[in-house]
Amino acid sequence: MRLLLVEDSVALVDELLPRLKRGGYAVDWIADGRDAGRKASDEDYDIAVLDLGLPGRNGLDVLREWRAAKLPLPVLVLTARDTFADRIEGLRAGADDYLTKPFHPDELLLRLQALLRRQRGQVNQPQLLAGGLALDEQRQSVQHGATDVLLSGIEFRLLRYFMLHPGQVLSRGQLEQHLYDGETERDSNVLEVHVNRLRRKLGRDVIETRRGQGYCYRGVDAGGKP
Ligand code: CA
Repeated sequence: MRLLLVEDSVALVDELLPRLKRGGYAVDWIADGRDAGRKASDEDYDIAVLDLGLPGRNGLDVLREWRAAKLPLPVLVLTARDTFADRIEGLRAGADDYLTKPFHPDELLLRLQALLRRQRGQVNQPQLLAGGLALDEQRQSVQHGATDVLLSGIEFRLLRYFMLHPGQVLSRGQLEQHLYDGETERDSNVLEVHVNRLRRKLGRDVIETRRGQGYCYRGVDAGGKP
């Protein structure tokens, strides 16, 4: 998942970045509100965390600009003041959720997971379900029949993206864009290695290769076994 973090407090960013990365997010961070409008439309982000008190430009104005540009990404707003007026204004501007500082990083992670699932029509489930597999985002493992299969960080990120887009053909470029942050070098041979590792762990048919197009998540129910 590609995540755009717009936050000017370096201390908070230092705390959040490693936690978000461990949670399987490829994070791009910007601190100035003036850069936020363009940045969000340059890349295909899956979700954004937006502080309201920013240098250069107010977070609410940034959010209004994103929504006026019809950017569909879910936005979680961070605010230093928990007042009724602030919340109403944030929601009116198009926020999907908000969190008042100070907060525990785990709460942010859980809210992000909930927002991403809600966007895919999965509500209030402890695990992400698709194609007969259940992904545990806390443990970064997947339930395959009676066994619990542990995943590496990159396998988890890849499988989560597939499971949020079941049955859709995803190009290599698209997958790479959502798996790696703006700084990481991308190599499609590496992507194939990780797809093959997932197949070895979960079965060959879980991910189908579409020649010249990319990959498609089928899950373990594929083919309607007798
Ligand atoms: Ca701030």
